[in-house]
Amino acid sequence: MSARRGVTILGCTGSIGCNTVELVEARPDLYRVEALVANSRVDVLADQAKRLKARMAVVADESAYPALKEALAGTGIEAAAGPAAVVAAAELPAEWVMAAIVGAAGLAPTLAAVRRGAVVGLANKECLVCAGQLMMAEVEAHGATLLPVDSEHSAIFQVFDFDRHDAVEKIILTASGGPFRTKTRDFMAGVTPEQAVAHPNWSMGAKISVDSASMFNKGLELIEAHHLFAMPEDRIDIVVHPQSVIHSLVAYIDGSVLAQLGSPDMRTPIAYALGWPNRIDAPSPRLDLAAIATLTFEQPDEIRFPSMRLARAALRAGGSAAAVLNAANEIAVGAFLDRRIGFLDIAEVVERTIEGVDHCQLGSIDDVLAQDREARKFASDVVRRAS
Ligand code: NAD
Ligand code: MG
Repeated sequence: MSARRGVTILGCTGSIGCNTVELVEARPDLYRVEALVANSRVDVLADQAKRLKARMAVVADESAYPALKEALAGTGIEAAAGPAAVVAAAELPAEWVMAAIVGAAGLAPTLAAVRRGAVVGLANKECLVCAGQLMMAEVEAHGATLLPVDSEHSAIFQVFDFDRHDAVEKIILTASGGPFRTKTRDFMAGVTPEQAVAHPNWSMGAKISVDSASMFNKGLELIEAHHLFAMPEDRIDIVVHPQSVIHSLVAYIDGSVLAQLGSPDMRTPIAYALGWPNRIDAPSPRLDLAAIATLTFEQPDEIRFPSMRLARAALRAGGSAAAVLNAANEIAVGAFLDRRIGFLDIAEVVERTIEGVDHCQLGSIDDVLAQDREARKFASDVVRRAS
């Protein structure tokens, strides 16, 4: 039997993180755990670290360090805290890293894993949105492997003919349409955070749930797909498919269209990345097409959901536009969840930030981080004036 694969999970206490922990825990014959990293939920983190016999557990929030140290006392599991420790955890020699921190906060540790040539299961789409070109160049330079975990991109990855890129006419991202798919803008103007995070098909973290409701998630995924599959913006279509059974499709020049299907359960794309290049069991509900009976499709509505128009424009503009879009969206989503702005203000804050922040070329990760900071500051000012 070959040696067990070393695994590190960045963002282990989140929705993707907990699903990854479940799959890793089920196969101690295949995996051993190097590091587990979370923001602040020490109780969950310490429990996971003990169950998985991790070598190290890290909290980003330094004030949580004493509690983590105490929870792990006598276990032999090393405890650490702070942003530098998060990056150091990603540098430990695990062959496989799950990048499931939410937002641009995931950029530095994901990059650290890439720079040592790891196989990276990429859930953290925001790091490709804000630094896609630089990230893909680092992947190439260090011989790393990026395996998309986002369900749409996992679907495309599974049916994309990388040896015949020219034969791909376009890729088609499916979108559930979120909880407000059939609602008017008047209705959306008054929705609460609770309504926005109640996704009809998927159970996810708060930020991506709001992104799904605003359809910024699909805009971010458009940019993510552009980088992962080297496809220009005008060859990436979006179609609304409320049942979330077809996870995305690849259309070829001969008229063939290949799709990947499954029940809406993230354990399937996580298991695909974890097992790659093999496949491992996942306990996701099996697809019963006869029970589902009907699959439907609609054109996305860019009037009610301006997010997709903004993301397409940012991708066409290039340079720092997508980094600004991402940072502004993170600030706006946070403000909406804190009830400081309304739901429709999210796209408004993003659009005003894109207009207000000077665009530039991104030559380095430091440029990305500087642009991210500037956009966050600008967007926070827009929020302050609006609330
Ligand atoms: P979540 O909010 O449930 O979890 C986020 C995780 O990141 C938590 O473990 C948290 O402790 C950690 N974290 C947050 N800030 C941190 C920081 N500064 N340093 C270290 N750790 C930090 O989010 P989620 O739904 O699991 O999503 C994670 C990522 O995966 C996002 O980028 C999201 O877009 C992407 N994604 C999620 C799903 C899904 O079904 N949940 C699907 C596709 C893609
Ligand atoms: Mg997705």
